[in-house]
Amino acid sequence: MPEQEMLLVQLDRYWECFGCGRVIDDPATAKDLEKAGMGWGVGIACPKCGLTATKTAFPGQRFRPLFEMVVECFQLKRAILVLILAQTVFEAMLGDLIAGLLFRRDCPDDIIFGITNALRDLDTTERLIKEITQKEISKLFKEVGFEDIRARFGRIQSKRNKFLHSAKQKKELTIDDMREALDFAYDTVDAFAALYSEHPELRPVDRTQERYEEY
Ligand SMILES: [Zn+2]
Repeated sequence: MPEQEMLLVQLDRYWECFGCGRVIDDPATAKDLEKAGMGWGVGIACPKCGLTATKTAFPGQRFRPLFEMVVECFQLKRAILVLILAQTVFEAMLGDLIAGLLFRRDCPDDIIFGITNALRDLDTTERLIKEITQKEISKLFKEVGFEDIRARFGRIQSKRNKFLHSAKQKKELTIDDMREALDFAYDTVDAFAALYSEHPELRPVDRTQERYEEY
């Protein structure tokens, strides 16, 4: 299987239990979740909590086009786009985490949007998570086995910036740079799955499900 397609396999690997909030590594169910249990995996027991409640694909559907674009740009050898998209995927998933934290504190939707929209860099994002949870996200990633995920993001950002901003001696991106970003996107799925499995209280809220029914 071509390496870039491994990333697409990642999208059919995990599902999230609505009962306990954990993210389950179970490709057999994840792959045909659209068909299994009336399309919601109903009746299939969660190995963590035993509930046969509704399941949802992880990462959520709205992230999938981003991952697919990473793969497409890798195939087209558009290295800079692979780097930018890999960063975007990570930032978007972290933004979702913050939106969930704020939502659980009854923050109105327009304020949630305003805050996530105003977050311009990862340092600020991490500080905000620390303010809200008293936890350092990089430490949490470390605890679930992804100690270097933040440093890898930094390396990709640095390469991206060198390419975009060093006009005089433009640093050309290589296949290896592109591969590094692809691997990072791949591990981003695992890192967030591990994080939410260990810390279900941090997981994003599917805001299309709950609150919108209240209005
Ligand atoms: Zn469960």
